[in-house]
Amino acid sequence: MSVLVLVEVEEGRASLVSREALTFARGLGAGDLHAVVVGPAPDPLVADCAESGVAVVHTADDPALSRYAAAAWAAVVEAAGRAARADLVVAPGTGRGNEVLAHVAARRNLRMAANVVSVESLTPLVVQRQVVGGAALERATVDSRVRLMSMAGHAVEPSAAASPGAATVSPLTVTVGPKDLRAQVVRTENRESGDASGLTSARVVVGGGRGAGGPDGFGDVERLAARLGGAVGVSRVVTSLGWRPHHEQVGQTGSRIAPDLYIACGISGAIQHWAGCASSKTIIAVNTDPDAPMVTKADYAVIGDMHEVLPAVLDELG
Ligand code: FAD
Repeated sequence: MSVLVLVEVEEGRASLVSREALTFARGLGAGDLHAVVVGPAPDPLVADCAESGVAVVHTADDPALSRYAAAAWAAVVEAAGRAARADLVVAPGTGRGNEVLAHVAARRNLRMAANVVSVESLTPLVVQRQVVGGAALERATVDSRVRLMSMAGHAVEPSAAASPGAATVSPLTVTVGPKDLRAQVVRTENRESGDASGLTSARVVVGGGRGAGGPDGFGDVERLAARLGGAVGVSRVVTSLGWRPHHEQVGQTGSRIAPDLYIACGISGAIQHWAGCASSKTIIAVNTDPDAPMVTKADYAVIGDMHEVLPAVLDELG
């Protein structure tokens, strides 16, 4: 038995969610761990795979694959699956990971479960997976010989294997035809300058919502984030109104965060926001409304005006 993991590359390394997927796949104890990388596999990426316990890194470095195309990536995953004799294929639950696995499932008439958080049994494969943007969990059975699943982000902490894998690089021969490239990314543009990576990796996030009152209402949110060595996160209302840049948005259509501490100020906790912050270890809500969903779901809540509560907290911290 072997498990194949689709590894996405970020600045020459295995992305955080890919390392989470590798850790999760290794924890299943379902045989040899293989990785598949579309494009070249730089040394640091191979080292990440070795650290995660990967035995073989399958690569497909055809120039036709230089632009993301879901069907072409699916052809690569299929080829790697054959080479690895994989019974289980795991991908990070990113837009691309889910799209590629869905293509593999359709091409090979296989079953797939998206956004899995835990596995109850391997044969048959029974999983718990997030649905409704992470607001609910569903138990699903994946009933096919080769089983496909994507991992919900932050379901596990990435960790090193007890002993590193050989991570032998093994080039694949994949024929990518025009049919596989009918839908491909031709250009990528940032909606605005900015980078959400600080937010998604921060151990502390201080959030601000409509309750901040306007673009000038985030001074204390910024100061508290800086004082705690954290990042600022906001609700979609705030980015839609142009009060803060989009890369700071937390939620279903923003970043998913999993800090040790999330302090959500003037944020109601709508389901789409909750989908992005539910994995936080501890949540403190600061809100004038004791019945706001964020208050009722939080571990701790301060009922009050954030413009009075935050200065008092900052004073206390000195
Ligand atoms: P509000 O809902 O208006 O809440 C403001 C809160 O501030 C209230 O609870 C109020 O009691 C409190 N408040 C007011 N004044 C103060 C004060 N002085 N001090 C303390 N508290 C105060 N939203 C996201 O955040 N992220 C997403 O990714 C996202 N994706 C979406 C995707 C779709 C398809 C849709 C339909 C919606 C999405 N939304 C998303 C929007 C979401 O439904 C909510 O509208 C949004 O999260 C509300 O933002 P808010 O909490 O800042 O504002």
